Amino acid sequence: MSSLNDYIKFSLDIEDQNIIFKDYFYKFLDDGLKYKIYTAELIQPACSFCGSVNLIHNGHLKTNIHYITANASQPIVIRLLKQRVKCRDCSKGSMAQSSLVNKYCCISNKSKLRILSALTEDRSMTSIAREHNTSVNTVQRVLASCSHRFIDSYDYLPEHLAFDEFKGVDRKLHFICLNGETHEVVQILRNRFKKDLLKYFGKFTPKARANVKTVTMDLNFYYQDIVRECFPNAKIVIDRFHMVQMLTRSLNSLRVTVMKKFGKGTREYALLKSPWKLYLKKFDDLEKLHPKYNWHYKDSLTQAQIVTEGIACDDTLVNAYNLLQAFFTALDDHDTEAIKEIIASKAQVGPLMHKTLLTFKHNLTAVLNGISLPYSNGCLEGFNRKIKQIERTAYGYSNFTNLLTRIRLEENKVKEKGPSNLLIA
Ligand SMILES: [Zn+2]
Repeated sequence: MSSLNDYIKFSLDIEDQNIIFKDYFYKFLDDGLKYKIYTAELIQPACSFCGSVNLIHNGHLKTNIHYITANASQPIVIRLLKQRVKCRDCSKGSMAQSSLVNKYCCISNKSKLRILSALTEDRSMTSIAREHNTSVNTVQRVLASCSHRFIDSYDYLPEHLAFDEFKGVDRKLHFICLNGETHEVVQILRNRFKKDLLKYFGKFTPKARANVKTVTMDLNFYYQDIVRECFPNAKIVIDRFHMVQMLTRSLNSLRVTVMKKFGKGTREYALLKSPWKLYLKKFDDLEKLHPKYNWHYKDSLTQAQIVTEGIACDDTLVNAYNLLQAFFTALDDHDTEAIKEIIASKAQVGPLMHKTLLTFKHNLTAVLNGISLPYSNGCLEGFNRKIKQIERTAYGYSNFTNLLTRIRLEENKVKEKGPSNLLIA
């Protein structure tokens, strides 16, 4: 009962009734690989224009179709003869087509789906191409073909957004916007110029824009303008990690200035130089019981002793250190009153920290939102790491759209759908 045709179709999982398998054999081709070759005919039972079965057969078009295989060292090729017919009724010519492969293409749609699903994993395109016995160009084309599926609608925006930027193609900074709660990507834009951001968010309906309640960001001056212009109900939230970063940077620069006042080889210089990381930690987290010998300052000290003695070298440094510690505490307690006091502090804390505090003062409402509300850009940190990973696997992307599609593919793990709606290139 089972014919050769039925058997091959069963083993290759091909259901098209118009394909009839005739033969199979192994063959070594020019690239040195042993190919499994199946020959088949794709018949055209009726005219594709008028449906008439009154046809003149007009030869075949021979195509070699790369098919999926479990064993990459033995690629499968289907040598498909596509029937060409001419209709006796409408006298139009047509050629048989199948869902196995798109017109003018020699990669089967099943292979493309496999490639697409491989693209959702953290793998280089070269390795995907090798496994599926295609060229890297094919993999790139498959990637490009699904970019259109990430075109978003403009009638919804999440309540909480997070703005940031990341370094991508050609070391340029790209703008990224995440959903502050689910950490899904809302959008990645090629650049972060004000006019492009305004144009992008301007496309959303007023209702979508009114839905946004908070936007978390760093102290970039024009991000705030964008929020004021585009989101009438949104509170600006300064990312608390960014605030801490600004303060620790100021303390660091002050520490270096103080350190340089003492000559190399002095105990003060050594105490301020090598254990620099300790000055940026919370004092409560420092080791207070077990002293360790350090050859830099030739003494056994605990971490707490190092810091206490180190900052005592300079009054300004003491003030700046205490201010940072007070800031840490207030941040942990979400204590906005304490933050207000810190910002209004008149203590000598060095020029850079003074400037940082002034910046906080100018953005007081947004800074206090960052202290009291639970939203931060911490989620973006993880995301930036993911982008770096994708870029590292690919040895850098030269094409922004490809990078973007890949990021979103890996993020969404796109489900396999039927080839018809997926691979319309
Ligand atoms: Zn016809």
